[in-house]
Amino acid sequence: MTTAIRTRFAPSPTGALHIGGARTALFSWALAKHSGGTFVLRIEDTDVERSTQQNVDEILNSMKWLDLTHDDGPYYQMQRMARYRDVVQQMLADGTAYYCYTSREELDSMRAAQKERGEREKYDGTWRPEAGKTLPAIPDGVAPVVRFKNPLSGTTSWVDVVKGLIQFDNVELDDLIIARPDGTPTYNFCVVIDDWDMGITHVIRGDDHVNNTPKQINILKALNAPLPEYGHIPMILAPDGTKLSKRKNATAVMDYEAMGYLPEALLNYLARLGWGHGDDEVFTREQFVAWFDVSQLSSSSSQWDPKKLNWLNNHYINQKDQQALTQMILPRVQKRLAQREDALPTDTYSLSDIVALYKSRSDTLEDIAAAAEMFYLKHTPNTALINEQINDANRPMLLDFIAKLKTVEWQKEAINALIKSTLAAHGLKMPMLGVPLRALLFGQAQSPSLDAVFMILGRDVVLQRLSAA
Ligand code: GLU
Repeated sequence: MTTAIRTRFAPSPTGALHIGGARTALFSWALAKHSGGTFVLRIEDTDVERSTQQNVDEILNSMKWLDLTHDDGPYYQMQRMARYRDVVQQMLADGTAYYCYTSREELDSMRAAQKERGEREKYDGTWRPEAGKTLPAIPDGVAPVVRFKNPLSGTTSWVDVVKGLIQFDNVELDDLIIARPDGTPTYNFCVVIDDWDMGITHVIRGDDHVNNTPKQINILKALNAPLPEYGHIPMILAPDGTKLSKRKNATAVMDYEAMGYLPEALLNYLARLGWGHGDDEVFTREQFVAWFDVSQLSSSSSQWDPKKLNWLNNHYINQKDQQALTQMILPRVQKRLAQREDALPTDTYSLSDIVALYKSRSDTLEDIAAAAEMFYLKHTPNTALINEQINDANRPMLLDFIAKLKTVEWQKEAINALIKSTLAAHGLKMPMLGVPLRALLFGQAQSPSLDAVFMILGRDVVLQRLSAA
């Protein structure tokens, strides 16, 4: 009988959820979903100095936005302290852990001496109980730490589902402190007890944790607990191959929401970063879950590619139902207009028509909102540009066009036909008409196709703006 898969995502709320963390969460989630297993969310909040409720909320919001729903949890480590203390006591009683009274100062000088002798810096085992060994007398006034009695010889190894066989010599591993002088448990210990208690079968996490894994495995073995499978995924690098950093790229998941990325685009993009299904670039969540195989995760690091993300986002924007897309754009436009004194009401023109006009050329929802914003601002003629663009060579054609525009049938085909016939009648090319028209309508030389813009603004507004010719 195979055990049902239970995976977990275990962020520390010392910052917002980053794209690297989101990818780890995505792979853990997909591994559970692929087999109908359980995805556990655990908040590792024991770093009380750096953990904040705001970060917890931001992480939960990001997971919700990405629609990576947990089936169990969220558990909070700070609420599990009693359990950790119990296990520490049990290990002390079993002899798999021991009190160590070596002070911080003694440890520092021990390390300095080891360094000077060119030895590996580690705890020297003074307080480690062994058969036939007499321990020193317990000093007064020293609150002890509790150390794990790590094996002194042999190796600890595991077949990493991403990286293959990884092996450490036990002699390289310290007798890890599992409880501090004030009794609070340490990071690696909490992770072990949680993974055990929560029945985690697969630990998928960033490869910055590889060095923690042998320590965690040895503690699990000492507790006679089953060992999960481990898979360590390599980091995401910046486009230039260096470490991804806030200074160079947006890293927080909710920054991508703010910039106007769709969660389905970001998820699709993250899924392809270190995992693949043939040449498929675009796939649904359902396909991803169905295809996901943890053994296909890449063991080499992947590079963040904003162009590809934009391409995918454009794809998903254009797949969206037109009405739903317009509803997503509206609050973004309103937010922009709230900061303007020359704003018009958003029902002045059809936002849906504006969205339809711009969506194919936009990478983000914000690109569309920025284009839409231009329509909802009170118009002031850009006299400098108008004077620059209108001259004796094109004024007669422009006036002719404007005169006929007053009576033309107000639909795209007729307007286009009028543009063409006017150009032909005056023997001129499109830019001679297009550029001045755009200068008059929007005060800028560029805009999407004129016929579409005319339809959105309506005859009255168009004629009124063109009257500045
Ligand atoms: N809390 C750790 C982190 O945010 C993850 C620990 C783990 O996955 O085992 O890096």
